[in-house]
Amino acid sequence: MKVIMLGAPGAGKGTQAKKIADKYQIPHISTGDIFRANIKNGTELGTKAKAYMDQGLLVPDELTLELIMDRFKEPDCKNGYVLDGFPRTIPQAEALTRALEEQGESIDYAVNVEVPDENIISRMSGRRACLSCGATYHIVHIPTKVEGVCDRCGEKLVLRDDDRPETVEKRLGVYHSQTQPLIEYYTSQGKLAEVDGTQEMEAVFEAIVKILGA
Ligand code: ADP
Ligand code: ADP
Ligand code: ZN
Repeated sequence: MKVIMLGAPGAGKGTQAKKIADKYQIPHISTGDIFRANIKNGTELGTKAKAYMDQGLLVPDELTLELIMDRFKEPDCKNGYVLDGFPRTIPQAEALTRALEEQGESIDYAVNVEVPDENIISRMSGRRACLSCGATYHIVHIPTKVEGVCDRCGEKLVLRDDDRPETVEKRLGVYHSQTQPLIEYYTSQGKLAEVDGTQEMEAVFEAIVKILGA
């Protein structure tokens, strides 16, 4: 199964993508996580990407596409994947469609997790991330057992540099101008499915499972 998660920054794509990956036994591929791992490891790609990410801008398509096309070559992708944060622009979506077409394939669903802008700022300012294992929490809605410590791996949690309110507003603008057009793109391909992302986490997941099948 090949699934794309669409939605604004903070809509809950990553949270749901992890649950989908667990249930359907497919890899969760997050371009944001891959960029952050590169930044942490001080790679050249990481240095290039960080300059854009810190400003709330998208990393250029060439760089992103090179990275994701390499990722698709890994053996764990043979049964599909759940994509979180990719594609984020029309050229990225077109490149994905072409790459799959060359193998006689296509994605199954693009799931749009809908959350209005008003809710996004509070979701993001409360988000705490584990840069070690990729887990994500929320100080109010999805708290950890011990404050500030990852339940899964015990690392210290951080507020991402790009989750500060000034940068979040900019990222929302970028989302509306560059990523939202993908909703139309996947609607016209007959692949779009919508879920109400303002519900609590488990209810959102139930709605997604109804779409993907149990
Ligand atoms: P969020 O989970 O809030 O949606 P991500 O972790 O997906 O954020 O992405 C963080 C940042 O990484 C983005 O603001 C952007 O700078 C960069 N990024 C991630 N995926 C892509 C992509 N597909 N194309 C361009 N930039 C990307
Ligand atoms: P995205 O990957 O779309 O940027 P995340 O999955 O990282 O979004 O979620 C953003 C923040 O909102 C995180 O702090 C997460 O714990 C929290 N969150 C995710 N889903 C829900 C939900 N259904 N209700 C409340 N908070 C949520
Ligand atoms: Zn962790």
